[in-house]
Amino acid sequence: MDRVFIGFSFAQSDRFKFSISTIGYIRIFFSCGSRFRHKRFSLTAVIRTVLVCLFVWFPILAVSAEAAPGIGLTAQQKAYLAQAGTIRMCVDPDWMPFERINGAGRHEGIAADLIQLVAQRVGLKIELHPVSTWQESLEASKAGVCQIMSFLNQTPEREQWLIFTSAIFFDPNVIITREEHRYIGDLKGLSGESVALPRGTMVEERIRREYPNLRPILTGSESESVKLVSERQADLTIRSLIVAAYAIKKEGLFNLKIAGHVPEFTNQLRIGVVKHDRVLRDILDQGVKTLTPEDREAISNRHVVIQVQQGFDYRLVWRILAGSALILLVSLFWIRKLRALNRELERLSITDRLTGLHNRLKLDMVLEAEILRAIRSGHCFSVILIDIDHFKRINDQHGHPTGDLVLVDLAQLLRAGTRATDFVGRWGGEEFLIICSDTDGAGAAKLAETLRQIIQDHPFPVVERQSASFGVTCFGPGDSASEIVSRADAALYLAKTAGRNCVRSV
Ligand code: GH3
Ligand code: MG
Ligand code: MG
Repeated sequence: MDRVFIGFSFAQSDRFKFSISTIGYIRIFFSCGSRFRHKRFSLTAVIRTVLVCLFVWFPILAVSAEAAPGIGLTAQQKAYLAQAGTIRMCVDPDWMPFERINGAGRHEGIAADLIQLVAQRVGLKIELHPVSTWQESLEASKAGVCQIMSFLNQTPEREQWLIFTSAIFFDPNVIITREEHRYIGDLKGLSGESVALPRGTMVEERIRREYPNLRPILTGSESESVKLVSERQADLTIRSLIVAAYAIKKEGLFNLKIAGHVPEFTNQLRIGVVKHDRVLRDILDQGVKTLTPEDREAISNRHVVIQVQQGFDYRLVWRILAGSALILLVSLFWIRKLRALNRELERLSITDRLTGLHNRLKLDMVLEAEILRAIRSGHCFSVILIDIDHFKRINDQHGHPTGDLVLVDLAQLLRAGTRATDFVGRWGGEEFLIICSDTDGAGAAKLAETLRQIIQDHPFPVVERQSASFGVTCFGPGDSASEIVSRADAALYLAKTAGRNCVRSV
């Protein structure tokens, strides 16, 4: 991917083409001015600026040229044309996409087409003076070999031997540096920087005159100037935006960037006519004035293919991002909420609602897990089954709510009186089960006795005193969960038959 021309496509040919709508003109016109005020340019910003500023001048050009409805030549001009014969023209042989002399010795490019149209409209025959450098063209023109110069800026130096038509084309000049170079707001702020410039150009003339702080390095062509910058033999060059873009692409010099522009150096390209031939200049000027914005656009499009990257709709992107973020946040919120609800559901499914202890379901699960663990590790575990004595009486004498209070209180005592590793749950009704990990029968009986004492001594609400009976058993090899519980139940039965409020082991 070429980095300089991210927004350009030269795929169809070596020429650019550019298409732009009237609305595009207006938008670009308003956005261009602010772009160069930024202190730093990112590559993308620079490219966008190139494209934007490139188009600024076309609308200006479009409104500045007054299209003549028809060509009203004076008698003098008609007489001139009648005896003129062929007019000889000097051109820049290497200034694409504006103009060049191609391999077949023909003049081609934007300037060639514009001038051909002008000549056709005023009825002039023009022939090309063959040269191999711009300098040669200048010299031939000064020597009077050529009557016109196709496409050039008006400068005091050139005014010494040329007179000019109205501008037929506008193109901004930009400062080209290597990518690492800082933004250049004003050329006057530089000191001693070397500037590569094609010899004999308007820019060379003005840089010498107006910017003594810069050090010109003269070159033979546009592409040589750009190349010197790319190869670090010069700090910068100042070139026409269109031509620079063309040269950078052609030479593949993608370490370059547009680091600023020089508004006062805008190319206002005109036809130059030898000084004494005022009638010819006026005839050409009449032709130039017939050029319509459509003529210029059609010609530009033939030579400059610049596919303007569709403006990235950042507002749409932000909207999509904001929407996505919102959806993400809402989703995260609901995922969290669902997770919490699931956790709560799971907790409720294994919790006894009245006492807050684990319920029968959980006790069954823990019992199965303890059996597997005991088999694997060889450690034993014990269970204690607890049944409140004469609990029916409490309900009968004090009512069900009081019975509930006693159950809740007793559950608290069991939880407080056991270790974290003991697993306390409500087995059902007024019965509780404690699973004591890594505890043998004797240890479990001891714990049961302690709990029995605590319960016996505890001041319960309303009923004051309350006792419970305990059946204790230890896991034995080959025991299933129901066998252990049955044994504990048998032990509990023994405790009940022994008079209650006591502990029995089996
Ligand atoms: P024993 O000493 O032989 O165990 O006598 P008991 O009265 O405790 O025995 P029984 O199993 O006959 O009675 C248990 C009572 O527990 C019966 C039932 O009404 C009551 N009960 C079971 N679950 C709850 C409960 O959640 N709340 C209340 N208030 N009472 C309950
Ligand atoms: Mg019971
Ligand atoms: Mg009971």
